[in-house]
Amino acid sequence: MLQQTRVETVRDYYRHWLREFPTLTAVARAPVTRVLKLWEGLGYYSRARNLHRAARQMNGRVPETVAKLQQLPGIGRYTAGAIASIAFGQRAPVVDGNVTRVFTRVFAKTQQHWELAEALLPEKNCGDFNQALMELGALVCLPVNPRCEKCPLRNVCRRGRLPARRKPALRPVTESAVFVRRAGKVFLRQRPATGLLAGLWELPAGESQKILLTLRHVITNRRITLRVFAGKACGTGRWFSRRQLAAITMPAAHRRALEKILSAQD
Ligand code: SF4
Repeated sequence: MLQQTRVETVRDYYRHWLREFPTLTAVARAPVTRVLKLWEGLGYYSRARNLHRAARQMNGRVPETVAKLQQLPGIGRYTAGAIASIAFGQRAPVVDGNVTRVFTRVFAKTQQHWELAEALLPEKNCGDFNQALMELGALVCLPVNPRCEKCPLRNVCRRGRLPARRKPALRPVTESAVFVRRAGKVFLRQRPATGLLAGLWELPAGESQKILLTLRHVITNRRITLRVFAGKACGTGRWFSRRQLAAITMPAAHRRALEKILSAQD
């Protein structure tokens, strides 16, 4: 859940998730539609699909080694290292964006961070060491204005304060969709089974003379303006009652737009 996503955003999702899926077996038994529903609004839905597939492969028990963990869908070197070291006390390194930044500054080195992370691992408590390193990057060695005066590495850090790195500019994108309602039901189309937001239901693309609302949101490097118009049903799709709408998974912006329009009309 925390990949590309902030702790504050994840916290409630995590609590709901554990309430509904207290064990791996509970995740494995659930239909993927339910797993996606609990993920609704978190984005990067391939993480949820991979977690579900991984739960089905694990047979109720998480493997303890990096090599075995990496065989599971969606688990790369970083996640495998984090699980193996933090959950099972293995001597496994982790390198995430925060660690990369700390290493780049402390050692003035932009490569071979995995080798460095491995060489620095202590004999024991590798999980604590890895978490401390990641937290140092997240809380002290900030991308802009690092807090060097509070940093325990300030005496050994080669670079100290680097010039502030500029964030890449967000690319403005405008999307248009139509809201169609008939006999209390809303018309939606399903996204293709592969690619971005695969399989999620959304308001169909289109425009008309009558705009209902404009909504802004940011996804990775895009600042999206979603304009929703009153429209007619066209193309392939399905009609959903209010109860059915609550059970399906939609991209967060489309869900927000839909809820706003429905509450304004009801
Ligand atoms: S001294 Fe400053 S730049 Fe170096 S690791 Fe600490 S916070 Fe980062």
